[in-house]
Amino acid sequence: MDPAALAALDHAHLWHPFTQHREWFATEPLVIARAEGNWLVDVHGRRYLDGVSSLWTTVHGHRHPDLDRALLDQLGRVAHSTLLGLSHPPAILLAAALVQRAPAGLQRVFYSDDGSTAVEVALKMAFQYHHNRGDRARTRFACLRDAYHGDTLGSVSVGAIDLFHSLYRPLLFDALVLPAPTDAGGPEEERCLAEGLALLARHGDTLAGLVYEPLVQGAAGMKHHSAAFLQRLLGEARRRGVLLVADEVAVGFGRLGTLFASEQVGVAPDLLCVAKGLSGGYLPLAATLATEEVFSAFLGDPGSHVQLFHGHTFTGNPLACAVALESLALFDRDRVLDRVRVLEEVLRDALAGLATSPWVHAIRHRGVMVGIDLRAPDGTPLPAADRTGHRVCLAARPLGVVIRPLGDTLVLNPPLSLEPAEARLLVDVVGRAISAVLGAP
Ligand code: PMP
Repeated sequence: MDPAALAALDHAHLWHPFTQHREWFATEPLVIARAEGNWLVDVHGRRYLDGVSSLWTTVHGHRHPDLDRALLDQLGRVAHSTLLGLSHPPAILLAAALVQRAPAGLQRVFYSDDGSTAVEVALKMAFQYHHNRGDRARTRFACLRDAYHGDTLGSVSVGAIDLFHSLYRPLLFDALVLPAPTDAGGPEEERCLAEGLALLARHGDTLAGLVYEPLVQGAAGMKHHSAAFLQRLLGEARRRGVLLVADEVAVGFGRLGTLFASEQVGVAPDLLCVAKGLSGGYLPLAATLATEEVFSAFLGDPGSHVQLFHGHTFTGNPLACAVALESLALFDRDRVLDRVRVLEEVLRDALAGLATSPWVHAIRHRGVMVGIDLRAPDGTPLPAADRTGHRVCLAARPLGVVIRPLGDTLVLNPPLSLEPAEARLLVDVVGRAISAVLGAP
């Protein structure tokens, strides 16, 4: 179809997520027609490096032949069959493969469709786990300041980013918010830890679970904390009977250099939420992994009604599970985590050049996840109304890169398959886009 006609239909009928449409209508939408490897191709045939992995999902690149084949093979068998009352091989085999690779003790896999639902399921599991064991006082959850766990009301309730979440407060349950630092180490983290430990001591016996993004709080603007910080908080929570709910929707599947970020924290959670990269970024698929200890609290007579009352129509879709299974196999076959370590160093070198820009206030980088804070040269925040982060991302497009900001924090989160030359190009374009928008100070 003619690109102009497509753009007109987009403007006429689509409602895009997290989008002010007055702004959207002012420009021609970038319409992606196809993709290959780490590159997106628009309806005009123009190519763009996928600098944010199509919203942090793409792992091995687009149109990977092995993933495409796994999907087509499964399509030749069955596209969808339910897990309510039935089972199927891709769901069974993927569950076993996940358990084999997951942090110790996580033995059970409950599927859903996206990160928000994976968290939603974990919240219900944690609450009901205590309820089924007769502990009715544990009805609350703790989360970290600036946490983001999804957009459904339960996951928003354990979110703590005012811009996204405060409006919906009347619809939400109340969570205990523990302070979290912007970066790892240092006095800010020490202060946050002391306050967090005190809050856990005071409220621990009312908490069903503590929900956290291990090591990097993605949507907060790639905020970091140290493994030591998290170990102390998690240790205290666990001592007080609070279930640990790791949300690895963003950081899982190699983005921080290990398959799961919890490996680097050194604490195996009771519940683990994954989505985004689970299917290699191909299809909507999520999972909540649970320990046998949690699972066993849901066992009882058929009439006892202690089972988990949750399940979405497309839970454990066979196509999505088949491609996820192949994605996990690729991690082993292509030694993907070794590649990430190399890529991390290439990015680090390239980012060192960017750090000298007067507009770059701070860079936080771990694995392939990068946050670049833009500020005025004197360190003051740029006026929010200027939408600088947004404008820099738009300026990167004619230079052949797609990225998406979080306010005035530029985010890079490329596929793990990014080649070193592509990593250098990505950072170079970001530097040029910053100069194009902000010029010389
Ligand atoms: N948890 C985290 C840490 C996330 O980053 C996100 C999405 N960015 C979600 C949950 C929600 O996932 P989804 O958008 O697939 O619902």
